[in-house]
Amino acid sequence: MEFKELLVLCGLAFAGATFADSDFDIPEFEDSKTTLQENVQRLVSQQPAGVVVEKELPPEQNMDEPENQPENQPLDESSLNFAPIEEKSTTEESVSSTPQGLVSMNIPDSLNRPIRVALFMGVKNLFLVENGDTTQLSADGFKSFTPKKIEGAKGKCIVIAETRWQLKNSCYPGSATITAKNGKLDVVNTVEVEEYLRGVVPYEMGKLDQQRFEALKAQAVAARTYAYKHFNSRGDAGFDVYADTRDQVYKGLASATPLTDEAVKQTAGVVMTYNHKFITAYYHSTCGGQTETMATWQKPDLPYLKSVSDKAEKGGNWCNESSYTKWERKFTDKEINTLFRQNASEAKVKIKDFNKVLKIEILNKLSSGRVLTMRVTTNKGSFDIWADKTRWLFKKNGSILPSSFFSITHKEGLWIVEGKGFGHGVGMCQMGVRGMAAAGKNYGEILGHYYQGITFEKYQKAGQK
Ligand SMILES: [Zn+2]
Repeated sequence: MEFKELLVLCGLAFAGATFADSDFDIPEFEDSKTTLQENVQRLVSQQPAGVVVEKELPPEQNMDEPENQPENQPLDESSLNFAPIEEKSTTEESVSSTPQGLVSMNIPDSLNRPIRVALFMGVKNLFLVENGDTTQLSADGFKSFTPKKIEGAKGKCIVIAETRWQLKNSCYPGSATITAKNGKLDVVNTVEVEEYLRGVVPYEMGKLDQQRFEALKAQAVAARTYAYKHFNSRGDAGFDVYADTRDQVYKGLASATPLTDEAVKQTAGVVMTYNHKFITAYYHSTCGGQTETMATWQKPDLPYLKSVSDKAEKGGNWCNESSYTKWERKFTDKEINTLFRQNASEAKVKIKDFNKVLKIEILNKLSSGRVLTMRVTTNKGSFDIWADKTRWLFKKNGSILPSSFFSITHKEGLWIVEGKGFGHGVGMCQMGVRGMAAAGKNYGEILGHYYQGITFEKYQKAGQK
């Protein structure tokens, strides 16, 4: 999402495939620095200009091509079919997990259609499986490429991927349209919103165990709100959302589990609104004890995005399971001199060419405790940098600071940055969601905590109950 405008944002996907049911912590972070850095880098590089949202979550599963992968590995297509969500067996919905006052309403005409997801944009090659045959598509060398539409059958996967080895994890519901432009291929997956969410929740919240089921439901509602808010948000681009962290990570149904599917099903049609408009559902990985407002981006406040305490009733913070509850980064004087010069433009500060940073001071903080103004004094004068942007000034090896919730000291040639949390801190704290779910909170209570004063509404299509 960042992330940008609606953000249910922030979404780096959880490492779906790497989490066992009992392994729902983020600690993978510490062991996946490269992946994390890449993700953060992606966030930074893919953020549309002027958009402040950023999605930050645990790293996605490693999609690097495995070594020694047989090129022509036969594909077992039978394993790639899926049960359409409306045909899944259901467990009885718990009354207590339904937000109170939920009003069922007919879906507006403008939203009563499938969502269009940009699966692949500007790729050179694609592999497609149809009727058991694998074909390689390329726009190279073609003067004209005839757009190809693949109509998926109910319960049958569309199997398409950028590499042959990825085909085994490819299962897209709905239909797909392949077009070409300037020698590159684009694929848009047109899919019912509820099916789309089955391919989002496992990546945006992870595969949790039954104890944290309400966290999956909270994520499903946040992702659904995001999806509807982004209908027609990209003008004439021909799609509504990207399938990656520019919006929400969606990889089809390969990682959907009975529990993630059930979370979508039990919250079917439920969205968050404020004054009957979809909320901008920003989210982030770990707040570190207190969420943030739009002030961290110097944007006008939104009434439902207040700075809320994430203190748990039994002490500690809801997000204390996170390995980013507390963190520390150390930089030598020399590194700081280099990094600050290198990162200035990305951090949006204008500086004179200096050789040496003499002083770094935090002049004031936001009410949450995050940095508001940081002053850097150099041998050529001083400059100020604000709030969330401070994270980019310290960017090293592609990694920005985990959060702007930090203090800084200088000792014996080392700058020591001690901080809390991971992400911008605005809106829903995903690790806090997990903690609240584990403590028995329902998804209505959880979302109502992070998005204050919101209303839940439930859409239904004509003929549905
Ligand atoms: Zn938190």
